[in-house]
Amino acid sequence: MPTISGRVHRIVRGQGAYVFDDEGRRLLDVPAGLWFANVGHGRAEIAEAVGRQLRELATYPVFGRFCTPPAEELADRLAALVPMAGAKVFFTSGGSESVETAIKLVRRHWQARGQTERQAVITREGGYHGLHGFGTSLVGVPEFRAGYGELLPGRITVPMMDLAALERAILAHGSGRVAAFLCEAVIAGGAGVVPPAEGYLTGAQELCRKHGIVFILDEVVTGFGRAGSMFAADRYGLRPDLMLLAKGLTSGYLPLGAVVAAGPVAETFWNPGTPHVFEHGLTYSGHAAACAAAMANLDILEREDLVTRVRAGESRLLAGLLPLSAHPEIAEVRGGTGFLAAVACHELEVAAQVADAMVAEGMLIRVTGGNALQVSPPFVIEDADLDRIPAAISAALGRVARRRV
Ligand code: PLP
Repeated sequence: MPTISGRVHRIVRGQGAYVFDDEGRRLLDVPAGLWFANVGHGRAEIAEAVGRQLRELATYPVFGRFCTPPAEELADRLAALVPMAGAKVFFTSGGSESVETAIKLVRRHWQARGQTERQAVITREGGYHGLHGFGTSLVGVPEFRAGYGELLPGRITVPMMDLAALERAILAHGSGRVAAFLCEAVIAGGAGVVPPAEGYLTGAQELCRKHGIVFILDEVVTGFGRAGSMFAADRYGLRPDLMLLAKGLTSGYLPLGAVVAAGPVAETFWNPGTPHVFEHGLTYSGHAAACAAAMANLDILEREDLVTRVRAGESRLLAGLLPLSAHPEIAEVRGGTGFLAAVACHELEVAAQVADAMVAEGMLIRVTGGNALQVSPPFVIEDADLDRIPAAISAALGRVARRRV
């Protein structure tokens, strides 16, 4: 939990790129909550869309032959938006559920296709894919896996950016025994913002195709503009078999996630006449009010051209932060892909103290991926505020250094 000097920090209101705490402080929301407040806080338009839907019909299950107009409209809109031909959409209540759903979908797909040995999932060191059952088993951060006893078998972890190691892992396990490769385009919370090495993602996609492995792109953080294009898949020229979405889908106004499937996996379950059924469902899949929030959120994103705003601002953000790497407490500044950047400290304790000290600078920031300060502002942030972030981090570092002397 965020603390100021050890106490819980209560956030009570939000407006644009700012939030307000219970002591009346107005604080720039530097991480956009947990990388979700993309269109900014306090959007009456989204609240009104949700209110309208709640008065009409809160929700109805989208199981079997039932559906609701908001779920149907949003599924069509997403299918048209993703760079995946013939996409099918399965709604969830958030990122972790998208991960669970995707792994089940892929494993069921291989069982249905008679390739029953294909069960293992390859992920990357430092990768983060939520913390439900499969997510906890697959996470590339050892602390998140510890203390639960035996986790699910069939996990293979490879170094972050090493294509040769990825292929070695596939061959060592036996390519006919690997179900999927699951990765983030830009590693977010697990390793504290690590953009992809040149050619890594397309290379990984090619390896998946070569060995018949399902390529799952986790766009829970990067989706809907955060990486400077509508999807990171657009920016890096990827055509994933499955795409995982949440966060920016509603900008956090209500919980909602999605798994988008295309290609062979979609054909297994959704081609006309297929005998295979994906026996999986969630009470709040495609919750009507959450889908209404997502539609209003996407309207804002498109009308205000916020993805272009992010792409235009990414180098300004990085250029401002880079000089911080000269500070003795700073190990590295990472970013350059949209509004996804981090300032990594050498020590976790310093990062935590800087995060606390930022409040006095009028900003909220959080520690992510071990020792890194997360800089991922709402897309509506003013340039002047973007420019103030490095100075505020520098001032907070100064306060912390003075306290440590
Ligand atoms: N995948 C990625 C890349 C994430 O960063 C997260 C959460 O931060 C998740 C999945 C899990 O999403 P949620 O916390 O909504 O369950």
